[in-house]
This record gives sequence, C-alpha cells and structure tokens, in this order.
Amino acid sequence: MKQEQKLALQIAIDGPAGAGKSTLAKLVAKQLNLFYVDTGAMYRAIAYKVLKNGILLEDELSVSQIAKTTEVILDHSEKQNVWCDGENVTLAIRSPEISRAVSIVAAYVGVRERLVELQRQEAARGGVVMDGRDIGTQVLPEANLKIFLTATPQERARRRWLEFVKAGKNVRLEEVAQDMQKRDRQDTEREVSPLEPAEDAVILDTTGCSVERMAAKIIALTQEDGR
Ligand code: C5P
Repeated sequence: MKQEQKLALQIAIDGPAGAGKSTLAKLVAKQLNLFYVDTGAMYRAIAYKVLKNGILLEDELSVSQIAKTTEVILDHSEKQNVWCDGENVTLAIRSPEISRAVSIVAAYVGVRERLVELQRQEAARGGVVMDGRDIGTQVLPEANLKIFLTATPQERARRRWLEFVKAGKNVRLEEVAQDMQKRDRQDTEREVSPLEPAEDAVILDTTGCSVERMAAKIIALTQEDGR
C-alpha cells in the first residue's frame, strides 16, 4: 500500500464488550503504522470524572456539562495512556465500578456529541484504526473498512475476567458475565447511536480465533479493490 493511501486509511472496528476489539485494533494499527484510537477509553474517562466529583449518574445535565468541560487526551505512546484533566487515568478507568457506570453516561446525547467531536479530530491526524460502538455508523461513516466483531457471550466474559485476574483484581466470572450482559443491553437499546453493525460492515466472529489470524484477515480486507 502506498504511503499516501495509508495516510487516508480509516478502519472502524465496532462490537460488544470483550469481542476482542482493542487487542485487534492495536495490532492492526501497529502493523499498518496507523494511529489507534480507543473511543471506549474516552467514555470511561468521563465516567471516572463524574464518579470522582460525586455527581449522580442519572443527572444528565450535570454529566453532559462535565463532558463539555473535561479535557480527555489519548497520548498515542506505546502505553496508550489516557489523561483526564491532566491526571493519568489509564489504569483507574478499567475498574469494575467504571465499567458499570460508563454505559449510563454514554447514553447521553451531550456526552456523545462532545466525544464524537474529539474522535473526529483524532481521525483528522492521519490514517487511523478506531474502535468503539458507533464508529462505522456515526463517527467515521466514510471509513474505508468497517468491521463488526462478535464472539460468544461465554468467550467474551472469560476474556474480560482474565484481564481482571491479570490486573490482580479479585472478581468472579459470573459477576463479570452479568455486568457485561447488562452493559451490552444498555449499549444496544439506547436511543442515541446504539451498538449495531453499519450496513456495509464486515461481520467477523473471533471465537476461538487467534488475534494474529484476525489481524491478517483485516489487513487483507483493506487491500481488496475499492477500499
Ligand atoms: O470499549 P469499552 O468497553 O471500553 O467501552 C466502554 C463503554 O463506552 C461501552 O460499554 C459503551 O457504553 C461506551 N462506548 C460507546 N461508544 C463508543 C465506545 C464506547 O458508547 N464508541
């Protein structure tokens, strides 16, 4: 692929929690030398700030106000640090508490408008692999390639549980599975930008597949005619 084509390349990866989006998006970005943008981290940063300030998650007006005035930065370093008003929240935003709160704040139109604006600014920096829930449908509707990742609920819960265990968190698999199911329901049923595949998305099931194989498949798709 020519350098100028790479600069303009946009790959959107959407799907439910634990489908393997971020691991895969990171690898594809590295292999194609593109920026990786984790939009879920941005919603998590807003949820973090809301909880830290003691604002009720149900208070849509105050939550939207927080979203408008909070500086969220993804620093694109090797560690992919996430900064919220100058505080490094990379690890803090992965807690089960934030995972439970995030879908509530992500359903508010004021929060989404602000973050979609930031996400499009990120994409304007150059070729990008962006993962989330509404990238193919809302954020980058003109993306060259749209992928919708799935995996069985059992596999998705197991993957997320292993991440918690590796991070030293003591959580039960059933608890993770229940939280995940609830979050997917909230994300799918919300009125604004619900989780759904774009009409022109390629649907890939990652159950039992290695991340390397999936990345190779996505890279091959970017090289197909017309992309
Ligand atoms: O990708 P991750 O699981 O970190 O996303 C956390 C939450 O952020 C999702 O469950 C969803 O509520 C919200 N989100 C969203 N739109 C995106 C990315 C994430 O609504 N583009």
